[in-house]
Amino acid sequence: MNITPSLNGFSQQDGVWYAEGIRLSDLAQRFGTPTYVYSKKALTDAFSAYEKACHKNGRRRARVHYAMKANSNIAILNLFAQLGAGFDIVSGGELARVIAAKGNPAHVVFSGVGKTEHEMADALNAGIKCFNVESIPELTRLNEVAKRLNKKAAISLRVNPDVDAKTHPYISTGLKGNKFGIAYDDVLPTYLAAKQMTHCEIVGIDCHIGSQITEINPYLDALDRVLLLIEQLKSQGITIQHLDIGGGLGICYTDETPPDITAFANTLLDHIEQEGFGHLEILFEPGRSLVGNAGVLLTQVEFLKPGETKNFCIVDAAMNDLMRPAMYEAYHAIVACESNPNAPQATYDVVGPICESGDWLGRDRALQVSPGDYLAILSAGAYGFTMSSNYNTRGRAAEVMVSGQEAHLIRERESIPSLFALERLVP
Ligand SMILES: *Cc1c(COP(=O)(O)O)cnc(C)c1O
Repeated sequence: MNITPSLNGFSQQDGVWYAEGIRLSDLAQRFGTPTYVYSKKALTDAFSAYEKACHKNGRRRARVHYAMKANSNIAILNLFAQLGAGFDIVSGGELARVIAAKGNPAHVVFSGVGKTEHEMADALNAGIKCFNVESIPELTRLNEVAKRLNKKAAISLRVNPDVDAKTHPYISTGLKGNKFGIAYDDVLPTYLAAKQMTHCEIVGIDCHIGSQITEINPYLDALDRVLLLIEQLKSQGITIQHLDIGGGLGICYTDETPPDITAFANTLLDHIEQEGFGHLEILFEPGRSLVGNAGVLLTQVEFLKPGETKNFCIVDAAMNDLMRPAMYEAYHAIVACESNPNAPQATYDVVGPICESGDWLGRDRALQVSPGDYLAILSAGAYGFTMSSNYNTRGRAAEVMVSGQEAHLIRERESIPSLFALERLVP
């Protein structure tokens, strides 16, 4: 089985795969392998699909805050910033990246269950838009840090709406029993506590129910539960200015059928208006749906190893480059960059060189390849490079952005000396 999603920015013609106007095999030769390749057009089009719904009758009714943990290369952040995006960050490191990418901190929201005092202080000093607070201890800490800096922290509470996003358990975040957000029944009392905090200012409410969600109903259920809270808060004298509905929209890796981005965003925004909340400022926090299908990982076949029960296609990319198969048993389509009619047709497990049986990139794939051929692992733009590691002392891959006939190196391949440059012998 090897089902290929329909892609924008990457295409196949007469057995040759292209990133926009450039052959993938030319990119592999020029930049080496493994290398991540992103299409500027695919990134831009995905963003525009959200923006189309965010504007109606000459009015901005929502703004995209890109969840940058999906792919935080500063060239990609800079592109989205130029297109008008804000950012959803989950660490002080990500805030520093936004600033390095010339993003505007005033359009940054800060999510995450474990914000440190340092991270809070940096974000307050940078003047971010909002802290998405996930617990009372966090609220207390934030209030103290803001007081010390003589600032007011704009806050939103992350509601755990207890809805089933029907996705992989590791990426489901809106159910009771997840570590995320404030339990639904505790939200009102937590807002009342926040109202008493001298250095916090309530500005919003947020939720995020999971990732790779391919149905719209869990969103509508979560939305209704949050809108009910906004009503209840109003009766307690607490005014909410913005509603952040999180991210999580899925993409097609193989045969999934997620809703179209514009239709999805329109449905949610129209629903909010129909329920009488059209005055609210709305935020989306998409990650995967902006970048996932805008990137591929190029790799080269090292060896073919026939086996008794399995044939292995051993490549130079591995689980340290792309964790998703090992971690979530995720499916990524794998294609030969150039057809090779002289090679034998066979079914392979595509695996890396790492010393772990979990080091596989695809299972039972029909391929017609020889050693030295280049392969592209598709739909690798989200949670690909950002989850990569140096396991087995492997330098992380290079990253390249293609625009038309041009290719730009946006991250150099890591050199081997750099991998242990911070280490010291004990004298
Ligand atoms: C990860 C995350 C997102 C983005 O999720 P995607 O599935 O990549 O769209 C948005 N908001 C929060 C709080 C997140 O943790």
